[in-house]
Amino acid sequence: MKNLIELDKKHFIHPTSSIQQQQEKGAKLIVEKGEGIYLTDINGDVFIDAMSSLWNVNIGHGRNELAEAAADQMKKLAYSSAFSTFSHEPAIKLAAKIASLAPENLNAVFFTSGGSESNDSAVKLVRHYWKIQGQPKRRKIIALKRGYHGVAAASTSVTGIPEFWDMAGHLMNDFIHADTPYWEGTEKAITSLRSVIEEEGAENIAAFFAEPVQGAGGVLIPPSNYFKEVRELCNEYGILLVADEVITGFGRTGKFFGIENWGVTPDLMTFAKGVTSGYIPMGGVIVSDSIHNVLKEKSKGTLFHGFTYSGHPTAAAVALRNIDIIEKEGLVANAKAMGVHLLEGFKKIKEQLNIVGDVRTIGLLGAVELVQDPATNKRFPAKLQVAPKVVEALHERGVICRAVTYENTDIICFSPPLIMNPSQIDSMVEKLHDAILSVQKQLVHHTLN
Ligand code: PMP
Repeated sequence: MKNLIELDKKHFIHPTSSIQQQQEKGAKLIVEKGEGIYLTDINGDVFIDAMSSLWNVNIGHGRNELAEAAADQMKKLAYSSAFSTFSHEPAIKLAAKIASLAPENLNAVFFTSGGSESNDSAVKLVRHYWKIQGQPKRRKIIALKRGYHGVAAASTSVTGIPEFWDMAGHLMNDFIHADTPYWEGTEKAITSLRSVIEEEGAENIAAFFAEPVQGAGGVLIPPSNYFKEVRELCNEYGILLVADEVITGFGRTGKFFGIENWGVTPDLMTFAKGVTSGYIPMGGVIVSDSIHNVLKEKSKGTLFHGFTYSGHPTAAAVALRNIDIIEKEGLVANAKAMGVHLLEGFKKIKEQLNIVGDVRTIGLLGAVELVQDPATNKRFPAKLQVAPKVVEALHERGVICRAVTYENTDIICFSPPLIMNPSQIDSMVEKLHDAILSVQKQLVHHTLN
């Protein structure tokens, strides 16, 4: 154990982590095993993985079927390329399967290894689309404040959380962010979007990117009419609509794809995470028939965009088995039902404790906001670190979840595996209640002193 912590400190640069914290305190958790909704660390302590790790282990941990799918495929053909129109059965079948699940007119898939690559690919694809249509000026990308779309070259700039721009030095040219519908409401958010479009000039805009539900921004669920209005606005100005389904795809929100909750069809969808439940890296971009037709007719010569692992046969085989499990076990419907149950639990906590503000779920994506005064939504001073303290108190009680604190918010996010049953939800909610209560007591103590 000690040796692993020392080696971790010395050699492992962790993604999206505090290097200082790692050096001072060592790795937070060294996980050894996963089974169902649980993770076990090297000390034998067991935790509910209430985030499905990084919102991705949709079918839960430890499913042998996926290990078998990988082993079978590896023994046959672990890897071969899909460049230069080389092809193989797993990627062909997966593309066809995804097309059958996506909204009716989205039928062609470009594969990547994850969400950031998918959004970078979508940025390049939409620009290429406009260029071969004779509108090369359409390069600008509009996205939402607090949206998260990844950390690669373009996806960092699609992301609307300024903390992520720092390391790149600055936001890239031609990326603009409009107001978040969860905070502003549909009318103001649409007005903000319209004014961005008019300021930038519709003839310069390639696409609008948004998550159907903003995940890393704090599980921000838009008002139900927001995306209908976005679709109309995009149609009015000839702008492509890209739905980032990296978190919301593959059942997370109680629909197969998150955008289905809002009754609109995007022109492109990006996906990753849940496509393989995280068992192996994979992502992609699904494009509409009309975009695909333009590519088929007008994209001449080589499309100079492709990853070594685009359509990786082993990843594709795992994805096919994963999707099969999601369908056969009815996990989309389960996510929907369990999301309702989880919300009831959150509401009970809100009745019992007096630092709970908005609580929300959509399928098994949920959030609890902590505020100083629920009546006015007055937030706590950032220095009190209320949400991180609750996450820590939950950790001590055997639940792993995530705090979101950008812009002085205190949001506790939940994204548990889609296999959750009611008693597992109840136990998670009970621990959440105890954790918030313990922090609430500390806060009273703090203010009294
Ligand atoms: N888009 C969204 C909505 C995401 O939540 C994430 C990852 N959290 C990404 C893109 C980036 O995906 P990846 O980390 O696989 O590159």
